Amino acid sequence: MLKRYLLAPGPTPVPPEVLLAMARPMVHHRAPEFDPIFQEVREGLKWLYQTRNDVLILASSGTGGMEGAVSNFLSPGDKALVVNGGKFGERWGKLCKTFGAQVTELKVEWGRSVDPQQVAEALKKDPAIKAVYVQASETSTGVSHDVKALGQIVKGCPETILVVDAITALGVFDLKTDDWGLDVVITGSQKALMLPPGLAFVSVSDKAWQSADKAKNTAFYFNFKRERENQTKNQTAYTPAVSMIIGLQEVIKMMKAEGLDQVFARQTQMAHALREGAKAAGLTIFAKDMPSDAVTAINAPEGVDGQAIYKSLRVKYGITAAGGQDQLKGKVFRISTMGYLDRFDIITALAAMEMVLKGLGHPITLGSGVARAQALLMAE
Ligand SMILES: *Cc1c(COP(=O)(O)O)cnc(C)c1O
Repeated sequence: MLKRYLLAPGPTPVPPEVLLAMARPMVHHRAPEFDPIFQEVREGLKWLYQTRNDVLILASSGTGGMEGAVSNFLSPGDKALVVNGGKFGERWGKLCKTFGAQVTELKVEWGRSVDPQQVAEALKKDPAIKAVYVQASETSTGVSHDVKALGQIVKGCPETILVVDAITALGVFDLKTDDWGLDVVITGSQKALMLPPGLAFVSVSDKAWQSADKAKNTAFYFNFKRERENQTKNQTAYTPAVSMIIGLQEVIKMMKAEGLDQVFARQTQMAHALREGAKAAGLTIFAKDMPSDAVTAINAPEGVDGQAIYKSLRVKYGITAAGGQDQLKGKVFRISTMGYLDRFDIITALAAMEMVLKGLGHPITLGSGVARAQALLMAE
């Protein structure tokens, strides 16, 4: 028997309470029973997002939310500034081009955070830019971008909105949608929100709604205005993912019971212990700036194939982590610390990592990373 551990940056483990909630008999979405569930979930999302804006709930993976954040706010020919520091930044560029936008890409070296000053300069040079697209946490590299600083900059540009892919940020670290001036914030169900894949969430500020009013809307399924009209009445334009919404109700209960600050503190503590444990085992972290607490990209040691590490973790030890993508393929392996995890998941990950590396012939002292993590994770 091989017990399975899911430590990939999405999907992440789902708590048993949530699985049981989702197994309840189906509720009809136009029946009165659905109304209070949807109402509670909408309120809970505002709490999680730290916003007074509406947070739309969409039946899709996270990319559906990203697509809507392009098609609802940009008309063909509009200018967009895309921060591209990894696979998901690249996705913003592809999406914007698909909807006919004129894209200026601000390329960021993989492993680095964008320099907010460069965004400020690009906006100064071209005030006609309608939207800035960025990741709060770039999952492919394990790096955060300083969206708080970007919010400050974009606030001063009356014609520009800031669109944040927070799919591996919301529920991991503090992200103050309103206070930081984040106009559109997207997340998905299968990362920090401890749900299966299938829901996307999008908050929209007043400034962004005004921008949507001016845009030639090219969306049908992901039409945010139509969704807002329905969702403020606790309905959805089309059939919602009912069981997922019931699961989300349970997730919000769990997160409220823990407290938002405590959720962030736990995620930070685990990511920190993982990074420090890896370093104590003689490894290095790929992120050169602001490592994301959602996922850690660890450099494969000299002479060891990163893909072999990731495969061996899964095949020999039952741990699903992730490899590197594109230019990082074979160079890194990635371990998630998002969502329903606790200190022993980190210790498990480090123990397995050491065993895998030793198995692949790398000189490593078994227990070196584990001991460091244990010391960091001891209860007071
Ligand atoms: C997972 C992820 C997405 C969305 O991917 P889906 O497969 O569509 O859910 C987008 N951006 C980031 C940063 C992600 O980690």
